[in-house]
Amino acid sequence: MIRYALACEKGHAFESWFQNSAAFDKQLKRGLVTCPVCNSAKVEKAIMAPRISGAKKRGDEPAAPPPPAATTPAPAPEAPGPVAMMSPQERELRGKLKELREHLIKNADHVGPKFPEVARKMHYGEIEHRSIYGEASPEQAKELRDEGIEFHPLPVLPDEWN
Ligand SMILES: [Zn+2]
Repeated sequence: MIRYALACEKGHAFESWFQNSAAFDKQLKRGLVTCPVCNSAKVEKAIMAPRISGAKKRGDEPAAPPPPAATTPAPAPEAPGPVAMMSPQERELRGKLKELREHLIKNADHVGPKFPEVARKMHYGEIEHRSIYGEASPEQAKELRDEGIEFHPLPVLPDEWN
């Protein structure tokens, strides 16, 4: 018996035992030597690795190289968000916050992103004072505060944290 290291046209390497080299040639010609991976019969001898059948040494083949280390980074864990377990008191407070917020929204004019502009005009007496609410970037909020304009963030309800 003789063992051949073989490789198919697609480069799959495998090994097979044959009676002798003539038997290998014959089987190869008939297309009987096929790749165990893709079943291709277009097989070539790779490096001849003759081993006498019944040889004592077994398992001394070079170990397969370890698979390449995974390069895909593990998916980043989702950023934790604030969570809270509320006691009845806090639930009540939350209710009040909600009331305050709703009251504000109902009784104030929504000026949206014009908030800094409108707040400034009111502060400098260009327009009449009234309750307004809208949006201000942290930068705009800082500028308003630097000018001594008093305003408050709208209360954010815990279920709006996310
Ligand atoms: Zn193959």
